[in-house]
Amino acid sequence: MTIGWRFDNTYAKLPDTFKENINPIPVKEPNLVILNKKLAKNLDLDFSKTDKKEISKILSGNILPIGSNGISQAYAGHQFGHFTMLGDGRAVLMGEHLSKKNERYDIQFKGSGKTSFSRGGDGRAVLGPMLREYIISEAMHALKIPTTRSLSVVKTGETVNREKPEQGAILTRIASSHIRVGTFQYIAAKQNIEELKLLMNFTIDRHFPEIKSSNNKALDLLNLLMEKQCNLVINWMRVGFIHGVMNTDNMTVSGQTIDYGPCAFMDHYNAKTVFSSIDKFGRYSYSNQPKITKWNLARFAECLIPLIDEDEDSSIKKASEVIDNFEKIYEKKWLNMMRDKLGLFGEDKEDKKLINDLLNWMELNKIDYTNTFCYLMNVKTPEINCYKTNEFIHWINRWKKRLNLKENSSSKYLDLMRNSNPIVIPRNHKVEEALNAANENNLELLENLLIVLEKPYNNQDKIINFKSPAPLGNKEYQTFCGT
Ligand code: AMP
Ligand code: MG
Repeated sequence: MTIGWRFDNTYAKLPDTFKENINPIPVKEPNLVILNKKLAKNLDLDFSKTDKKEISKILSGNILPIGSNGISQAYAGHQFGHFTMLGDGRAVLMGEHLSKKNERYDIQFKGSGKTSFSRGGDGRAVLGPMLREYIISEAMHALKIPTTRSLSVVKTGETVNREKPEQGAILTRIASSHIRVGTFQYIAAKQNIEELKLLMNFTIDRHFPEIKSSNNKALDLLNLLMEKQCNLVINWMRVGFIHGVMNTDNMTVSGQTIDYGPCAFMDHYNAKTVFSSIDKFGRYSYSNQPKITKWNLARFAECLIPLIDEDEDSSIKKASEVIDNFEKIYEKKWLNMMRDKLGLFGEDKEDKKLINDLLNWMELNKIDYTNTFCYLMNVKTPEINCYKTNEFIHWINRWKKRLNLKENSSSKYLDLMRNSNPIVIPRNHKVEEALNAANENNLELLENLLIVLEKPYNNQDKIINFKSPAPLGNKEYQTFCGT
């Protein structure tokens, strides 16, 4: 039985403030539901010589891999704007695994039992939400959006009580690290400057080695995280992804999307779309995502104030200059991203208007975001009639004129569009359908869905079903925090 674990656990060696040493609490009857063989291969892990029973024990934490060193990480977070000391209340980081190329991956079990950060919670997770995280995180990866990934889901054989009794499950999450903006907030709140420096240097070693010997590491770190998070939110806007719970504890410093609780993809375009049942005021709505990214980055900047400059005023001034730049950088990147979606090369002063007119038309007429770009790429789409209206034809003519304005061939602009516009996204009703079946031990729909989502930019055969938005008249889709 050689799976190929190569643990090198650096976070576990940090001082006690950062974490608690703890192992997963064994579960009654672990039973593997799904294993991501392709991801395992990328990690240089081989489960093919291990039987299912054994894999179930390993990926539930009932057997501890040699070299692992369980910890739960401390972090804080602004949740819907309110600051709280948090930490892994239902997760254990088993360690950092090195691939053969020495790429470093956090191996974390989510749903692995109580820790000292559980704050009254049961430390457990439910099958549906864990499979949902599996589906959407893998879809995000296939969409070429930085994200944590999912190696497996194992049923625990235990009941977890939520609104009704549910099947317990453990997800194995793979991340380039689990350092969050909230990790910095936790250490900063302890007001121990040496530990704050330690966290900064640890983060730079792990994610930003290029600024290791810079003159102002803290300021450079802020700039680099701003760049990464700006790119990330632009990617979300590109595919119509709504994260749903952009608390600072759910923002990584690696720039990977993390925490797939109440997230969902938008069908018809509406800037104010919110799916999460608890997001009453639309704080994390589609169009608010860039603003919240900036808000979270400002919280990150606050943590770094003691490290930017010895003089506090000058430190605040320097950090503010960086944060104040966010809108300008975002706007430019967003415009370019939308140009790519429309196959537009170069720049024209009318571009923003052209783009906004399309978005407004979609919003006013409740037109599907993903499918509209498919239609423009001549990809067969389920709803056609709305594209035959005079208003839209007029817009198309303006777009074609703009396409011809710059030197352009149809193959060139279509290539650009094909790289930017997914043909399939995890449609909410398809995800729900797969999860409901999986809850009844039928994995066929889940497996089919995962296959289609693996190649979101390809025009695959027989996927028209996966391209339809939820039937109109359906109750607005709602998501719930995946606890
Ligand atoms: P999340 O909503 O998943 O971002 O979690 C926010 C915080 O609540 C984190 O500190 C989690 O560890 C904690 N938490 C969520 N669910 C549970 C649970 N079932 N038991 C204990 N802690 C939890
Ligand atoms: Mg979270």
